[in-house]
Amino acid sequence: MNHVYADNAATTALSDTAFNAMLPYLKEQFGNPSSLYMAGQKAQEALYQARETVARCLHADPKEITFTSGGSEADNQAILTGAFLGAQKGKKHLISSAFEHHAVLHTLKKLEKQGFEVTLLPVHEDGFVRVDELREAIREDTALVTVMFANNEIGTIQPIAEIGAVCREKGVLFHTDAVQAAGHVPIDVQAMGIDLLSLSAHKFHGPKGVGALYAKKGVRLFTLIEGGAQERGKRAGTENVPGIVGMAAALEEACAGMEKNNLSIKGLRDRIAAQLTKIPHSKINGVPERGLAGTLNMCFEGVEGESLLLLLDDRGISASSGSACTSGSLDPSHVLLALGLPHEVAHGSLRLSLSAYNTEEDARRIIEHVPQVVAYLREMSPVWKDLEEGKRKHVI
Ligand SMILES: *Cc1c(COP(=O)(O)O)cnc(C)c1O
Repeated sequence: MNHVYADNAATTALSDTAFNAMLPYLKEQFGNPSSLYMAGQKAQEALYQARETVARCLHADPKEITFTSGGSEADNQAILTGAFLGAQKGKKHLISSAFEHHAVLHTLKKLEKQGFEVTLLPVHEDGFVRVDELREAIREDTALVTVMFANNEIGTIQPIAEIGAVCREKGVLFHTDAVQAAGHVPIDVQAMGIDLLSLSAHKFHGPKGVGALYAKKGVRLFTLIEGGAQERGKRAGTENVPGIVGMAAALEEACAGMEKNNLSIKGLRDRIAAQLTKIPHSKINGVPERGLAGTLNMCFEGVEGESLLLLLDDRGISASSGSACTSGSLDPSHVLLALGLPHEVAHGSLRLSLSAYNTEEDARRIIEHVPQVVAYLREMSPVWKDLEEGKRKHVI
């Protein structure tokens, strides 16, 4: 029986369209885009086309797109750019949110050690930042606001256009980590007042190790990688031509099919949610109706997330407990803690993230196996025993 892949927030399968677009550049068309002879110029032309495609999907200008090695690099470069541009004017205050991806949070931590001050906006129980709290947090010396478009663990889509409007009004640079959003929800950098935006190909059925950073015209990017004059001097190193071509093909396909895909993905997600919420003492984290179509994050009291995942894996279901980057550790998710969930509950989380490649049969198997595994784990759980015997109070 096929494996059920329900971890699309961690990474996605490469689409046939992206794969086929990449093939020639992996083999025959291997020229270096910086070379002046024909083979190089063909690669250069492929980069040009890819840049146009990515720009079109974001309502940006091709000159505003810099290719990177992925979402993490784009996040690092965007935030360091905001920090350095601010510092040049004596502004050393940065604003973000408590539930960002570690590519953002760890970059901010590094800047904090270098004398920047960081304010992390609280994320309310519903999984959203509040625009009025952002407005209050902005100061004379605020250099950058960085708030993610959609959260990778609970899927909530933040009020990006409102945040952009506040930043524009206050004259503060605005970056958004749109790695989970690109290819999944409509993005218009102009209408949304976005100055810097990160995306990553492998979250929308493109290849791994390639991403893009949008920087609005006039925002001078700080360079992380010095060397040749590739990417207009913003990012040195011979371009990942097959990766970039694959990313553009995947993004174009994702944007064209967005409405239709989201409708079917949401149908599966909602069907799963309707059944899994029947499990006693379970809870959905975030607000699915105001989130990404495919994300469902749930807690089951008395159940440890890691064990849940391993048992689901035995039954042929790949899911996640919070963030893939930290699931090697036993720390509860910083995202769920930011929502105000107690430690013991945040441990028991399950993230299912679906894509257009999931089927009715996948949903059926998730609906069949998750309640069985939860019941099995609760039977063995000392915490659950205490809850049942009333020695401990139910939190959910
Ligand atoms: C996956 C992810 C990243 C990191 O992207 P990579 O391409 O894997 O470096 C950053 N931010 C969010 C929200 C993500 O989901």
